Amino acid sequence: MKKSSAKGGLKFDTKWSYAPAPETPDHIQLKEKYDLFINGKFTAPSSKKYFDTINPATEKKIASVADANAADVDKAVTAARTAQQKVWSKISAAERGKYIYRIARVMQEKARELAIIESIDGGKPIRESRDIDVPLAAAHFFYYAGWADKLEYAFPGKKPAPLGVAGQIIPWNFPLLMAAWKIAPALAAGNTVVLKPAETTPLTALKLAEILQEADLPPGVVNIITGAGATGAAIVNHPGIDKIAFTGSTDVGKIIQKALAGTDKKYTLELGGKAANIIFEDAAIDQAVEGIVNGIFFNQGHVCCAGSRLFVQEGIAKEVIRKLKDRIQTLIVGDPLDKNTDIGAINSKAQLNKIKSLVQIGIKEGGECWQSDCDVPSKGFWFRPTLFTNVAQSSTIVQEEIFGPVLAIQTFRTVEEVIEKANNTPYGLSGGVWTDKGSKVFKVSSKLRAGVIWANTYNKFDPTSPFGGYKESGVGREGGLHGLSPYLKMY
Ligand code: NAP
Ligand code: MG
Repeated sequence: MKKSSAKGGLKFDTKWSYAPAPETPDHIQLKEKYDLFINGKFTAPSSKKYFDTINPATEKKIASVADANAADVDKAVTAARTAQQKVWSKISAAERGKYIYRIARVMQEKARELAIIESIDGGKPIRESRDIDVPLAAAHFFYYAGWADKLEYAFPGKKPAPLGVAGQIIPWNFPLLMAAWKIAPALAAGNTVVLKPAETTPLTALKLAEILQEADLPPGVVNIITGAGATGAAIVNHPGIDKIAFTGSTDVGKIIQKALAGTDKKYTLELGGKAANIIFEDAAIDQAVEGIVNGIFFNQGHVCCAGSRLFVQEGIAKEVIRKLKDRIQTLIVGDPLDKNTDIGAINSKAQLNKIKSLVQIGIKEGGECWQSDCDVPSKGFWFRPTLFTNVAQSSTIVQEEIFGPVLAIQTFRTVEEVIEKANNTPYGLSGGVWTDKGSKVFKVSSKLRAGVIWANTYNKFDPTSPFGGYKESGVGREGGLHGLSPYLKMY
């Protein structure tokens, strides 16, 4: 047993000592300053303003990034409109598919660089960005490349036509993957795009702009503009936008929905979640414990579909909680670039403060709080994996999305009781069921008001499978054929 070790300059605790295995960032190519990607070129912002993007594990600046104002948004929308009318709608669907396919291939070639940049800019462990974010992003481009010339087979009896220009706004938790979720179906359907990444994680979207150049995508087909919330609002309110695709918080989703009311812009909203992971007495407990840990601590809990509420059937509650604590004690919190790391840095100081304040509220309301006793580095934004027991259905931390590595545990006796409790939040994005009985899986999953339910597994994604929420978790679906139709008019 080793108490602490230094990896990549960061100190953290482990139960067992692993030799440090840091991924080296030496070969990645990043500019010191990034302009806006409009009409196929990097262009200085009319605002003349730039902001810093930092590494949340070190708090060091990585690059300065242009802050687009309404005039820049207008330039990007104009470029997208011209490209849609003069180029993208004129080439054959098979050609469109080839471009999308080429983007996927170049992305694969640069997979390692993209993974490192994702981890540096956003704080997620390299194992995740390398094995999940980047391969899945490429898979989305491959998948939708295949649909580009088959739209009439996808929607038999209909004549699908593109909407025009799509405005796309994405969050910081899966920056490249969210860009892929949005851009790939839009292009396959014949639309052009103006995309805005989140303020704290713009770099992989800007690297994607370089990939689009390398793939020779015609200028203006995809425009990537960086900025804060005001830039997103300028996209939403621009009259030249035909469709908004937004992934982010429910609060901002509501603002967008209000702004779009009364316009003929189409929209899809992928919003927050408060998923229930339900474990029955007949489940394979060790397997379930692993899945529950993955469900909430994966990506620091920065996952809209995170299993942030655990419901354990009463007879196994003690055993499950003990096993969870044992497993959590072994999780390695630290340097996102180290391949041993399980939990990386919290994405920003603001997010860390939000997590801390909700945990304080949980304690004040009588919840029993347990945390792993690992050390965390002094610099950077970190939060230890945390469990709450003795929480009520009405507790703030049971109702509100925390978006951090915090699990609220409740118990239940009957199937009916757990369904009632699981559905009792304003959200309905996802859920998990752990049981040995297939019939129970079907019974529970058909009654949970959530868009995605995993059975005896958690956080599994595939481009062919639709994803999206009920209630305040959103409107519309992304992924699969369901993700293609919101980008099409059907005649
Ligand atoms: P957020 O604050 O809502 O921001 C999302 C994006 O919207 C960012 O690019 C943000 O820019 C921009 N934005 C902020 N204010 C805006 C406005 N008034 N008009 C237009 N755009 C605006 O969400 P976040 O904190 O980045 O992400 C976390 C949330 O995303 C969580 O609630 C999570 O559950 C949700 N999420 C949902 C899914 C899903 O598929 N359902 C997937 C991932 C994440 P700035 O970055 O500059 O603020
Ligand atoms: Mg950053």
